[in-house]
Amino acid sequence: INSAQWARLWITQAAESVAENREHLIDLDRQIGDGDHGENLDRGFAAAVRGDALENAGNGADVLKHVAKTLMSTVGGAAGPLYGTAFLRGAQQLVEDQLTAAQVAALLEAAVGGVQARGKATLGEKTMVDALLPAAEAARKIADANGSAQEALRAAAESARSGANATGPMQATKGRASYLGERSKGHLDPGAVSSALLIEAAASAAD
Ligand code: ADP
Ligand code: MG
Ligand code: MG
Repeated sequence: INSAQWARLWITQAAESVAENREHLIDLDRQIGDGDHGENLDRGFAAAVRGDALENAGNGADVLKHVAKTLMSTVGGAAGPLYGTAFLRGAQQLVEDQLTAAQVAALLEAAVGGVQARGKATLGEKTMVDALLPAAEAARKIADANGSAQEALRAAAESARSGANATGPMQATKGRASYLGERSKGHLDPGAVSSALLIEAAASAAD
């Protein structure tokens, strides 16, 4: 798979998925936050795919850098800077013309590393880290076993989705949801669910 083509398709499909799940993400954020997550992300991804910036980006890294800049300037809230950093750090790892499992693992590890550097959340705090970290670990396992980029992305998507589903019983200790204390339990974290959507889009773009 060509990295630039994959990155363009990923972001196009991510924008579609975020738009389709806009209300769902709003509902989730309404339970334990302020209800803007779906709207914020939809605004950001719609801006990222607008015009011809994706086609004009010469390689995969430039595609993801454009996304990072757009998300940072349009999404706002907690998720804007966090996803902006994730895409910027991920972009810096997408250096090969052909997508490999090692590239996928490096990208996801850098992305979650950026989120953690910025937001200081670790596993189990009911944030997007609970989807992103297992995804990066799953991709690394496939890379170490000499699997394909598709296999790495598929494993990452499955782990991100189970990671997001596992946030239900957790108590939030970072971000706006942490203000609810015990009452944050019993709801999925909106950022973990959006992270799963984004990684699922990355996987389907490679199929
Ligand atoms: P806001 O809470 O400012 O309205 P959003 O609704 O866009 O921002 O995003 C909320 C999501 O951001 C949460 O569901 C969570 O996944 C993520 N988040 C918040 N704080 C952190 C943090 N410190 N580290 C990682 N993720 C975080
Ligand atoms: Mg919110
Ligand atoms: Mg907000």
